[in-house]
Amino acid sequence: MYDRTAAAGEPERRVARLTVLAGPTAVGKGTVAAAIRRDHPDVWISVSATTRRPRPGEIHGVHYWFVSDEEFDRMIAADELLEWAVVHGANRYGTPRGAVLDKLTEGRPALLEIDLQGARQVRQTMPEALFVFLSPPDWDELVRRLLGRGTESPEEQERRLETARMELAAEKEFDVTIVNTEVRAAADELVALMRSYPDSPEA
Ligand code: 5GP
Repeated sequence: MYDRTAAAGEPERRVARLTVLAGPTAVGKGTVAAAIRRDHPDVWISVSATTRRPRPGEIHGVHYWFVSDEEFDRMIAADELLEWAVVHGANRYGTPRGAVLDKLTEGRPALLEIDLQGARQVRQTMPEALFVFLSPPDWDELVRRLLGRGTESPEEQERRLETARMELAAEKEFDVTIVNTEVRAAADELVALMRSYPDSPEA
């Protein structure tokens, strides 16, 4: 947890609120985060640690901190992660706590782009954060984005659709929904929301 108010006698510190962006698989969270990184450099986006291997073009410390299983275990044991989860039944992903708290204390708008399990954990520890659900324009569009590459077996496709149904049902746990019809518009809407905080530097 972090202090949002200065103790009596201490100089007042400006503490921004954390924003958590989550939503169903393939809705385009990563693309919206990339648009914010490009168009709104004042917004700080957390760099997660992950045990998955880098994809071509991904840079250590920019897209993720690519770490070994042993290092991820160490981070958990040292309580260095604000939240973490096994995503898609495979690799572990987690948010390094220290960097997030530093940015908030600096008063810089901070964004986490994480999966639903992670968002639920942050809800427990930092309920004052703003929880934003990114939703597809409609179910057919999500199916198209989910199965777009068409490279999965029918069983895998059905498994993905089932997961998507469950993930969409989580929308009611969130404070706000942004519909991702067009990436840039969704990114601008999210940043406007972050800037509308009463205690954010731009407000
Ligand atoms: P990808 O491997 O495609 O980059 O990401 C897979 C999924 O992991 C995405 O749904 C993304 O939101 C999620 N993810 C990325 N970083 C984190 C994190 O730090 N914590 C959690 N819980 N999920 C994350």
